[in-house]
Amino acid sequence: MRRLNEGLESEVIARTEELESAYRHLELLDRNKSDFITVVSHELRTPLTLIHGFSQMLRSDPVIAEDELRAKEVEGIVNGAHRLHTIVNSMLDVVKIDHRTLHLNCSTLSVDYLVEVLRSRLAPALDERRITLTTQGLSDLPEIEADPDALTKVFNELLTNAIKYTPDGGSIAVEGRDMTEGQKGGDRYIEIVVRDSGIGIDPQALEMIFTKFYRTGEVTLHSSGRTKFKGGGPGLGLTVARGIVEAHGGRIWAESAGHDETALPGSAFHVVLPLIVPPSAM
Ligand code: ADP
Repeated sequence: MRRLNEGLESEVIARTEELESAYRHLELLDRNKSDFITVVSHELRTPLTLIHGFSQMLRSDPVIAEDELRAKEVEGIVNGAHRLHTIVNSMLDVVKIDHRTLHLNCSTLSVDYLVEVLRSRLAPALDERRITLTTQGLSDLPEIEADPDALTKVFNELLTNAIKYTPDGGSIAVEGRDMTEGQKGGDRYIEIVVRDSGIGIDPQALEMIFTKFYRTGEVTLHSSGRTKFKGGGPGLGLTVARGIVEAHGGRIWAESAGHDETALPGSAFHVVLPLIVPPSAM
């Protein structure tokens, strides 16, 4: 028995050391990934700002505006630069989240108003894809203390994804509920759920989709449209969304019965936010 015990003990020690070494290796890889994003995003930002600025100047040039072909070419550059700008900004957000330097500029905010602003911003995409967007319970939600720009990013990401992963003619519902209605004192929270009738998510991927650069499906296979059906992206949107929600002292997670492009089980993204951001969160 003693020999067996000793054998087991040394086995446990050896395995623990292996695990610790694997963990250190993973930590190093993650740090390398983070350093890579920092360098790339900073290096790309300056030339991109130049391309963006000059292409916008070209667009407003009357000579170019009169020439239909040239105007179309310049529009292409402006759109491309804008898309790259968005990607680089997401990378910079990821760096801030990794380094815990994301700064929130909080004010009093109505989630109902925020969703309505996004609804009109996304109206052309919703119309084009014939997707209906309904809301429920948002107007009854109390106002919360939050960073309006940051939360707009979160819900823009969730709604854009819901459009992207729902086939034409589908539906999206945004539901709100006061989790602590009637409760006096203590921490109060609201929950907002963005539900779609789309292709759904494999249960094994439900957590991984929040890690940086993670995307389901073939990496090289993606259309570049922001709201095209299954149009890919860099896989940073949900990482940024989770970082922002957690910086507010909230939680975000996904639920889905599975990934099925025929049965369309849909997905639901839950966001829980406190009415007041706890000082420890910022
Ligand atoms: P991207 O930058 O590609 O939009 P995200 O971080 O927003 O990256 O999403 C990561 C992955 O999560 C996507 O590639 C997609 O596979 C999956 N995903 C996100 N939202 C949904 C959704 N509403 N329905 C199905 N899959 C989704």
